[in-house]
Amino acid sequence: MKSEERSIATELIDFIDSCPTAYHSAVHIKGILDSNGFQSLNEKDSWKLESGKGYYIERNNSAVAAFIMGTEPPADGFLLAGAHTDSPGLKLKDDGEAGKPQTGYLRLPVEVYGGPIISTWLDRDLSIAGVVQLRDEGEKSGYKSVLFDFERPVAVIPNVAIHFNREVNTGFEYNRQVHLQALVSAGTGSPEGLKSLIAGVLGCPPEEIGGWDLFLYDCQPGNHSGLDRDLIVTGRIDNLAGCHAILAALLSVKDPRRTVGGFFFDNEEVGSATLQGADSGFLSDLLDRLVLVRGGSAEDRYRARAASYFISVDGAQAFHPNFPEMHDRDYAPTLNGGPVIKMNANYRYATTSEGAVFFKELCRKAGVPVQRFMMRSDLPCGSTIGPVTSAQGGIKTLDVGIPMLAMHSIRETCGRDDQGYMIRALSGFFKAG
Ligand code: ZN
Repeated sequence: MKSEERSIATELIDFIDSCPTAYHSAVHIKGILDSNGFQSLNEKDSWKLESGKGYYIERNNSAVAAFIMGTEPPADGFLLAGAHTDSPGLKLKDDGEAGKPQTGYLRLPVEVYGGPIISTWLDRDLSIAGVVQLRDEGEKSGYKSVLFDFERPVAVIPNVAIHFNREVNTGFEYNRQVHLQALVSAGTGSPEGLKSLIAGVLGCPPEEIGGWDLFLYDCQPGNHSGLDRDLIVTGRIDNLAGCHAILAALLSVKDPRRTVGGFFFDNEEVGSATLQGADSGFLSDLLDRLVLVRGGSAEDRYRARAASYFISVDGAQAFHPNFPEMHDRDYAPTLNGGPVIKMNANYRYATTSEGAVFFKELCRKAGVPVQRFMMRSDLPCGSTIGPVTSAQGGIKTLDVGIPMLAMHSIRETCGRDDQGYMIRALSGFFKAG
């Protein structure tokens, strides 16, 4: 058993290393789906779907929804799980000719995306990745989105020496406009603008680049850690672990009775209200369409949703031994203790008692341990895609996740065994059809 958990942990580390941005996550997920026989569909086309076959759609090159058509009519309901492809971090400002040499140095202005632990982004080897808009006369807009990654350290956000900032260890706030600009050249050579450097990597003239969505990311690959290698330390566990678990579980399903699906939304870290986020029609549009394409009636659309289940998978806060006062000890999960059911009286998590016992049963049948998380009653609680999916989709939803430490740090920590446990629980859910 332990060697199986170890190899799943290695798979998770590799998966995360392949996905420096949400765009790369979507491409990587699509590649895995392609190699497992899933067929790509375009939302603009008319669809013909066969039972037992896998399909997927995408939005904005950064969100994917995959499903396997069941043999039963869609009014019997869907078995669904979802996670998010994005992680908090630093995004480059639009092409704004970032990086004209200033005071010799070449720096790139950034905006903060979501809620990263900002101090963890300083003094690290950072690269730049995302999508670039490249001129293409064949496209209606005249441009196409191209995946981009420098794949090497190109930037650093240096701290100022402690001799200039004696407060740095006693509570210092980094100014997001001033202190986080990314240094990309000392200006001692003949520094080119960022656009020229990107054009060099893409092998095109700089004037063919119309714009970009580019993010900084940590170049350091993920690691097994701990004396017994029972820890995983890497970036973006929140929430590529969720994406990886759902994808692995989905691929374990053959010829399901009810249609099963995995949703990989973008933009959870900034509130989900985008075309490709959970607070959009991405989920409900697809479910309605599957009912209609299979000859269902308008009423069947409502019947299908009422008979469906959605498991929202996102990171859970593990008990932190250095900060015990932050936790309600009776509701604080531990690393390698199994998947976590997340509950909150104010429905920052969607789980009801009905959902909680549903997931406990899944874990019992899969032979995996299960834990629970509830925030201290005197601290505000985080949230995820569960509540919005439940409210928007009209579907019974529960929130679960693997336990982790340092959520939203540039490097997070989770346990070796929990990912395997989560995949087993989700596989059981999809196969229960
Ligand atoms: Zn998350």
